[in-house]
Amino acid sequence: MCNEYFSVLTLGCKLNQLESEAVADAFTQAGFEQLTANNEQSRENGAKNSPAVVVVNTCTVTSKADQKARRVICKALRDNPDSAVLVTGCYAQLNRGDLLKLDAGTKRRLFVIEKDNVLNLIHLLGARHCVLDTLSTFRARHSAPDNSSALDTQFSFNPERFSRHTRSFLKIQDGCNNHCSYCRIRLARGPGISLDAQEALSRLRILEKNHAEAVLTGVNICQYKEQLTINGENAAGMGLAELLEYLLGGTENIKLRLSSLEPDFIDEKLVKILANKRIRPHFHLSIQSGSEKILKKMGRSYNNDTIEKAVNLLRSAKDDPFLACDIIAGFPGETGTEFDETLSMCKKLDFAWIHVFPYSKRPGTPAWHFNGTVRESDVSQRVQILGGLSAHGRERYVKRWLGREVEAMAESGTARGSKTERGCRGISENYLKLLIRHQGGNVPAPGTVLRCELLEAGNFKDYDAKAAVVPKLN
Ligand code: SF4
Repeated sequence: MCNEYFSVLTLGCKLNQLESEAVADAFTQAGFEQLTANNEQSRENGAKNSPAVVVVNTCTVTSKADQKARRVICKALRDNPDSAVLVTGCYAQLNRGDLLKLDAGTKRRLFVIEKDNVLNLIHLLGARHCVLDTLSTFRARHSAPDNSSALDTQFSFNPERFSRHTRSFLKIQDGCNNHCSYCRIRLARGPGISLDAQEALSRLRILEKNHAEAVLTGVNICQYKEQLTINGENAAGMGLAELLEYLLGGTENIKLRLSSLEPDFIDEKLVKILANKRIRPHFHLSIQSGSEKILKKMGRSYNNDTIEKAVNLLRSAKDDPFLACDIIAGFPGETGTEFDETLSMCKKLDFAWIHVFPYSKRPGTPAWHFNGTVRESDVSQRVQILGGLSAHGRERYVKRWLGREVEAMAESGTARGSKTERGCRGISENYLKLLIRHQGGNVPAPGTVLRCELLEAGNFKDYDAKAAVVPKLN
């Protein structure tokens, strides 16, 4: 133990969350201790412990994400005057120079580290006494990206302990081969790359020892394609459907939740596997628009029929699964007509959640140069309209489930339903946030799997529904 603290601040998607877990795990293994609300105050003298390193894992999906990253970094520098602030992630990958300018102090405490170098660096920090000196030396040596194998580094983020989430995550894919005209993620993460299936299984078996659920993540998991070489020749490897079958066949109990899916990859073969009881009834479709004209401009290779077919197929895989989608509002050229097409598609398909992004112009992308910018006030109005539809969809979904039983996982912390009612927080198999009433004072430990009955709708801000533990597992 080097008696130093670290903290990790994460922005962005599930992939970033997983990578932050790996960062926290690596720091812990290197002898550092994670700074939490519990150990922030020093036991000896009551003074505040401060971290030797604050990691900020950034996102660049929208210009708001960039702004937020800059705000969080500046705050981390301000609040921790003696700490090194180590910035990594997608925004850092593309805007190193801009970020370094945020460090106005004389000590040069801000370090922008290529994601591929982060874990090696943490290992080095664990072996040295002075964090700032070690980071400065590392910065001098690694100011240019190294040439290490992308496969080795992109999948080295493999935490076995998850200190920040009840569920575990397994990264099976990174990067993307599509060229969506608005997307900056593929610029930051490069072309698609997949984890070897055997390695994925052995990682999942390790997770299965301590976790009831793993979320399979990647930038575009539908592009999972195992690279197989037999006798020096490229052989056909597994796609997502085969991988899922292989992972389910090689494990016993662990449940799998999938991150975003692409409509044009949903077919009968995949749906047959998704029907397996160990795949969570929760699917998130990356749709982006219901206007074929806009989809074409976005560089998305499907149309409304494909979207509708994908939704119907996913619904056929499970008993009323939680179905969510991503929509971008205000893409260049989206007039009221195209927006109405999106709106009526969303109404028709009745999603339980619509994740609406206001379009944001991203440097380096083709859409940066597109005409037809939508007025900001129109974009906000469209976001609001879709947000309202999403809220109603969620309410309808919860109501359909009232009185039914679901499997749920207890999460850390207690929640309050009213002044007198308390319970633990939980997340159901179909992705509802629950306030779970439990017997007596025994609060279930985070990660405990419970069988619950959904009793009544929640306030949809803190939780979606109230639930009670059903005494016996069916
Ligand atoms: S599918 Fe399109 S939006 Fe998604 S990561 Fe790939 S390029 Fe970006």
